[in-house]
Order: sequence, then structure tokens, then C-alpha cells
Amino acid sequence: MKRKRNTFLSLAIRMIGFGVVIGIAFPFFMILLGVPVNIALSALSFIACVVAGIIVGFFNILMTSTTVERKLTLITEKMYEVKNSIITVSESGNIGDCDPEHCTIPIDTNDEFGRSAQAFNELITSFSSSLRMLDDIKTYTAIFSGQLDLRTLAEYALDRVMNGTDADAGAILFDQNGEIGVLHSFGIQDVNALISDSHILNAFSKKESFTISLPDDVIVESTLTQFRPKEVIIEPVLFKNVPIAVILLAKAECFQSGYSKQLSIFTQSLAVALHNALEHEQMQKLAALDPLTGVLNRRFGLLRLQEEYSRAIRRGTVLGVLMFDIDHFKQVNDTYGHVIGDRVLRNVTTQIREAMREGDILMRYGGEEFLVVLPGASKEDIYTVAERARRIIREHKTHYGESQIAVTISIGGDSMPESTPDSEQGLISNADEALYRAKNSGRDKVLLH
Ligand code: GH3
Ligand code: MG
Ligand code: MG
Repeated sequence: MKRKRNTFLSLAIRMIGFGVVIGIAFPFFMILLGVPVNIALSALSFIACVVAGIIVGFFNILMTSTTVERKLTLITEKMYEVKNSIITVSESGNIGDCDPEHCTIPIDTNDEFGRSAQAFNELITSFSSSLRMLDDIKTYTAIFSGQLDLRTLAEYALDRVMNGTDADAGAILFDQNGEIGVLHSFGIQDVNALISDSHILNAFSKKESFTISLPDDVIVESTLTQFRPKEVIIEPVLFKNVPIAVILLAKAECFQSGYSKQLSIFTQSLAVALHNALEHEQMQKLAALDPLTGVLNRRFGLLRLQEEYSRAIRRGTVLGVLMFDIDHFKQVNDTYGHVIGDRVLRNVTTQIREAMREGDILMRYGGEEFLVVLPGASKEDIYTVAERARRIIREHKTHYGESQIAVTISIGGDSMPESTPDSEQGLISNADEALYRAKNSGRDKVLLH
């Protein structure tokens, strides 16, 4: 094994050695200075000069160790502190101890020591910020992977990315079967304008991220945010190289340099989580929808009715329901066959939807029976909606070769609190009873409970 050399020991030996050499050489200088040869070269003179050289050497050693060694010891101690902090961080995940405040060295000299301290402090600062970044990534990745609700995920992600980049406004947009929608936004003036913005569309199609520095761009300047942004970042979120979302960030000042690496790590873990949440939502939709007509199936529709019923009871608000049944539908099937029957059924669904208001819930209740839940609709309101639907369906015919198939519907309805059913099932029964009467009194009509 190679023996380690001690810098201070060899420095001490050299200093004393140098003192001895100077001590031996000095009496000869004394001759040049005019001291008589017999005195200058006497044994006493040699001894005195060598002793003086050794004393100077010792003082040099003393001064070196009080200044140089002390500073080096400080740097060493700080390094050990940092080392211990790293161990703590890896064990506890708490990066507090490695804060630049605790681990940096005071810079009090303008020399190599000052510069080493400066370099050490910079090392600690960048190390600490990368630890923070790792900790951040760990935290948001854990939260991302556990979140399947698309909106909650988007809200959290936008909050994190805006915090991380110090952005003043932002939005997350996503591609939903070819249509761009806004998942979440903050501080954006006209969110819907973003959907058709050429930069956003570009990010979706070209998969490229870019930064727009104002005043180069007028679109962003005019309507984007409530303040005047200086810089706007548009970053696509790619899953398996397919853009599934786009993050937009705007800042009144310029973004700090180095954000883009962080943003790209962020979007990588967001991409996986977004993909999972999108798949989850898609599956939930499929499970809730009737495959033939595309409206809610009975199971999910009734769950929605249950929610609306509870809300209406809780808040004392109005809730109406309408039950639709196609008249003599069996005859349509018998005459034109089931495939055309299906087509008529789909058409009727589309017409009913057209007569409904936003917020009304349409479900396929049975074969060719539909239930519409109308929050806030009194008997008068549901009658108006039902009549409108009845007329639309009556007038709208399904084309089949040369012939046109016309169908009519009978509708029964009820609304609370005008009626006081004891459950949502009671409300349905009332509507069903009214429908039964409509059928028995000639069909193609609307009757209320
Ligand atoms: P009305 O309601 O006026 O009393 O007469 P209706 O002939 O419509 O009688 P009902 O409502 O009892 O008949 C339902 C018919 O709807 C029977 C069935 O063949 C048809 N049907 C139910 N579901 C579907 C479907 O998904 N596709 C097609 N093509 N027909 C269906
Ligand atoms: Mg029928
Ligand atoms: Mg029926």
C-alpha cells in the first residue's frame, strides 16, 4: 500500500531545512556586509544563524497552521456535515438539513480559499436544488399515479407545474378523440379561445414545445391572460410519442433559465398518469352508456336520478321526470325488420335530446322506453319539454329506401314537490302511470300524474 504523505509535515521539514540552509549561508553574506571574517565564520556565528533560521521555520509552521490549516479544517468539517445530511436525506427524505443555509461556508477572504469556499457553496446550492427536484418528482409521481380522476389530476398537475416554474397563469388542454378540450386553467382570460389557437394546435400536431416571447406574438398578447405576459411556454405531453395533452404557462416576467429540463421530466410522469386517467374515464363512460343509442343506460341513469332526487329533497328544489315510449313500435320491427327498428330508435333518441335542456339527464329505461330527469322543472316545464319532443318526433321521419317511417311517442310525467312521492322510484311510478293513461287514451300525447 502506498503511504499517504502529510502535506503539513513535509512543509514543516522544508521550512526548517530552508531555515538551516539560510543559517549556514548567512555568515558568508555577513562578510559581504563588512563583518570581519574571523567573527562571521566563527562557530558561534554559524550556530546563531542556524538557530535563527530554525526559529523562523517554526514561526512559519505556526502561521501556516493557524491560517491555512484552520480554513481547510472548516471546509473539511462542512463536507462531513454535508455527507451526514446526504445520509439523513436518503434515510428520511427530509432535505431540510442540507439547506444552503446550514451547509455553506462563509466567504471571508479574496483568495484561493475564498474561491474554494465559493465553489463549495455553489456545489451545495446546486446539489440542494437537485435534491429538492428529486423530492418533488417523487412526491408528484406518487400523487399522479394514485389519481384516476382526470379533473382532479389536471388541477393538481397545473398547480405543481405553475409553482415549479413560477408561472402566473396556465392551462392544461387535452385531446379527446380528436377534439381539444380544457382540463383545467388558472388566470387565463378566455379559455375557449385556446382551443382554436394555432400555437396549441401546432403543439398537438407537431409534438414540439416552444416558448413565445412577447411582443413577437399578437394572439397571446390580446386575450390570453388578465395581465400582459412577457413569455408563454407551450409544452406538449407525449405518451408513447402521441400528444395527449398540452401545458400552457404564462408569466409576466421571463421564465428562469433551466425550467425546460424540469418541465420535460414533469410532463413525462404526467403523461403516464393522464393516459391512465383518460383510459379510466373512457371505460367509465363505456360502462355508463347504452351502446345502441349512446345515452345513459338504465343502471347509471338511475344512479344520476338518485343523486338528483337526494339533492332536491335536501335543498327543497324542484325535480321533474318524463317517461317516453314509442307507439306501436312492434309494428315498425315487424314491417321493416329489427335493423331499421334500431335506426328509428336511434333517431328518436336524437330527437328527444334535441328537445331537452342542458343539464337534463336522458337514459334508456327499457327496450324503447326512455326516462328524462329534469332538475328544476315544474309540471308546467316538463309539459312544455314533453310537448316539444312529441311534436319534433312526430314531424321527423326516418328514411328507408323510398319510404319514410314516421313514429309517435306517448309521454307521462311528474314533478316534485307538486307531487310528493316517497322515493325516486315513486316519482318514476307516477310518470309511468301517466304514460299508461296516455297509451290507453289514444297514444301520441302527453299526460301528467
Ligand atoms: P305501445 O308501446 O304503443 O303499446 O306498442 P309497442 O308495440 O311499442 O309495444 P311495446 O312498447 O310493449 O313493445 C316494445 C317493442 O319494442 C318490442 C320490441 O320488439 C321492440 N324493441 C325493444 N327493444 C328494441 C331494440 O333495441 N331494437 C328494436 N329494433 N326493437 C326493440
Ligand atoms: Mg312502445
Ligand atoms: Mg315499451
